[in-house]
Amino acid sequence: MVNNRTKGGDPGARYARQLPLFGTEGQECLQAATVLVAGAGGLGSPVLLYLAAAGVGRLIIADCDAVEETNLNRQVLHWEQDIGRMKVRSSEEKLRAFNPAVEIITVDEQITERNAARIAADALIIVDCLDNFAARFALNDAALRKDIPFVHGAVRGFHGQVTTMVPGRTACMRCLYASAPPPAPVPVLGTTAGVVGMIQANEVIKYLVGTGGLLCDRLLIWDGARSLVEEVLIARDPRCVCSMPETVDSREHEENEA
Ligand SMILES: [Zn+2]
Repeated sequence: MVNNRTKGGDPGARYARQLPLFGTEGQECLQAATVLVAGAGGLGSPVLLYLAAAGVGRLIIADCDAVEETNLNRQVLHWEQDIGRMKVRSSEEKLRAFNPAVEIITVDEQITERNAARIAADALIIVDCLDNFAARFALNDAALRKDIPFVHGAVRGFHGQVTTMVPGRTACMRCLYASAPPPAPVPVLGTTAGVVGMIQANEVIKYLVGTGGLLCDRLLIWDGARSLVEEVLIARDPRCVCSMPETVDSREHEENEA
C-alpha cells in the first residue's frame, strides 16, 4: 500500500501525537502558514527540520552560501555528500524527502536592505537564523514595515539566545543592539545551535497555533557550559525606529528603484 500513500501520508496519523495539544484547528493553522527561515545553517537546520515535522505548510528558505566542511559540526541538514552544493538545494532535498506535504520555496540571495521586504512579503512569521548583523538588521526593518513577527536567535560557543519580536508591541533588533558587531567566525558547538534552533521553532509553532506564551520582551539565554537557562527582560527603546513607524516606512520602496 506504500505506493498509494498521498503526499505526506495521512495527516491524522502523521500528526496524531500533537493533535491532542491543539486540535485539527491548530494543525490547519500550521498547514496554512508560510514561514520565512532566513539562514539554512546551524540554527536553520533544526528550525527547518522541526517546522517541517510539525506540518507547517510552506517554508521559504533564504540562504546564499554553499556547504563547506567547517559547517558539518552543527549544520545537520547538510551532510558529507553536500559539500560544495548550495545550502538551499541541500535543505530542499532533505525536507522534501522528510515531509513531502510541505511546500519548499528557496531564495538563494544575500538578504540586504534592498530585497528583505520582498523576500519576507508572504511570511506570517520570520525566523532569524542568520550569522551576520547587516542581514539581521535588514530583515528586522522589513519585519517592522510589513508588521511580521520576528524570532531572533544567535549562538556563540556554548551560549545562545532567543527572543520573539512583535512589531508595535515589543523591542526590535535595533533596540537590542545599537550597532552591528563586526562579522567574524565565532566558535559554535552543534548542540548550542540545536538547542537555540529548537526554542525558535517552538516559538513559531506556538505563535501559529495561538497557544502558550511567547518570549516577548524576554531574552532567553542558554548557557550550555553550565546547563543553565536565564532570562533578561528587554524593552522598546522610545528613540528606536520601531517606536517611530514613519522612519521605517520611508525606506519601503527602495528595491523598486533598482
Ligand atoms: Zn526597536
